[in-house]
Amino acid sequence: MKKVHIFNAGPCKLPQPAIQAGIEALKDFKGTGMSVIEISHRTKEWESIMNETVALWKELYNIPEGYHVLFLGGGASTQFCYVPYNLLNKKAAYLDTGVWAHKAAKEAKMFGEVEIVASSEADVYNHIPKGWKIPTDADYFHITTNNTIYGTEIKKDIDSPVTLVADMSSDFMSRPVDVTKYGLIYGGAQKNVGPAGVTVVIVREDLLGKVNRPLPTMIDYRTHIKGESMFNTPPVFPIFMMHETMKWIKDMGGLEVIQKRNEEKAALLYGEIDANPMFKGTVIDKEDRSLMNVCFVLSDEYKAKKPELEAEFLAFAKEQGMAGLKGHRSVGGFRASLYNACELEDVKALVACMQEFAKKNA
Ligand SMILES: *Cc1c(COP(=O)(O)O)cnc(C)c1O
Repeated sequence: MKKVHIFNAGPCKLPQPAIQAGIEALKDFKGTGMSVIEISHRTKEWESIMNETVALWKELYNIPEGYHVLFLGGGASTQFCYVPYNLLNKKAAYLDTGVWAHKAAKEAKMFGEVEIVASSEADVYNHIPKGWKIPTDADYFHITTNNTIYGTEIKKDIDSPVTLVADMSSDFMSRPVDVTKYGLIYGGAQKNVGPAGVTVVIVREDLLGKVNRPLPTMIDYRTHIKGESMFNTPPVFPIFMMHETMKWIKDMGGLEVIQKRNEEKAALLYGEIDANPMFKGTVIDKEDRSLMNVCFVLSDEYKAKKPELEAEFLAFAKEQGMAGLKGHRSVGGFRASLYNACELEDVKALVACMQEFAKKNA
C-alpha cells in the first residue's frame, strides 16, 4: 500500500490496530461466523462491545457517578439542536469562536434567548476571545473546545457558574478532562475517537427533565439513557471502530501519554512554522494554538512576492506523500490536523517537506 502521511481534518487518520481489528470483525465477529454488520445488536456478543465501550469512556475520562455516556446518530451538528431542546428554558449563553460554535448558537435561538458572551468573528476567529463574563441567569454556557477550521483551542477546563456544555468534536480524548466541570459534553467521533457515524454524548442525568416543552422521543436524552443507547438500532460498525480506538488509547498508556504525544507533535510543527521564513501561523495568541489543527499560510513576504507558492507547496507536499494539507475552504492556506493517531514521524516528514520547499524557493 502507498505510504501516505495523513493530515485530514475529519474523517482523519485512525490507529492501524483499530483498522486491522475492523477488517477482521467485518469478516468474522468474535468467532460467530458472521460479520459485525450482520449480527443482531440484541446479542451478548454485541452487548459486550457496547458495555466495554462505555466502560472505556468512563475509565479514560474518569467519568463520575451521575453521568451517562450515550452513542447516538446524527453527528455533532444534530447535537446543536438536541442541547437547547433538552436544556434551554429561557436563556443560554454561547462563546462564538468559530463556524461550529456559530452554528450551535444559531440552532439554540429557535428555543429561547441566546446571549453571545464574546465573539472573534470580526477577526476571522484568529483567537479565543478573552475577558468575557458568563451570565449567571443562563440555563447553560456553551463552548467549542477546539475550533477545527481556525486552529484555536481552549486547552483548560474552565469554571462556569452555570451548567457548562462543550462541543469537543475535534479534541475529544486528546488530553485528560475534568468531566465534573461540565454538565454535558458531545462530539462526532470522526476526528479522534473513530469513524463518522457515531456521536458521543456525556450528560449529567440530574440536568434532564427540566424544560417545559414536550420532547420528541428520539431527541429526549432520557430515552437513550434508559435504552442504554439501544432504544433503536445503534450505528454498530462506527461503535465497533470506536471501541477499538479507545482500546488503542488505553494501550498507549491513557490520556496523559496521549496528551504528551500531542504536545510534542504540535510543538515540532509550530516550531517550524515560526522558524521558516516562508510560512506563518494564523492564530494570533500562541496560548490559543490548537494541538489538533495547525493552521498556517505563506508569510507576508512570500505572499507578496510569489502568491502562486501556495498552490505549489500543496502540490509539492502531495508529491511527498502528504494528504489533507489544504486549509478549510473558508480560510484558505494550509492546515495540518495532528489528531491522536497521527505519529511524530508524520510531523517530521511534513517539517522536512516544508524545509525542502523553502530551500528550493528561497
Ligand atoms: C466537525 C465538527 C462538527 C460537525 O460534526 P458532524 O459530526 O459532521 O456534524 C461540529 N463541531 C466541531 C468542533 C467539529 O470539528
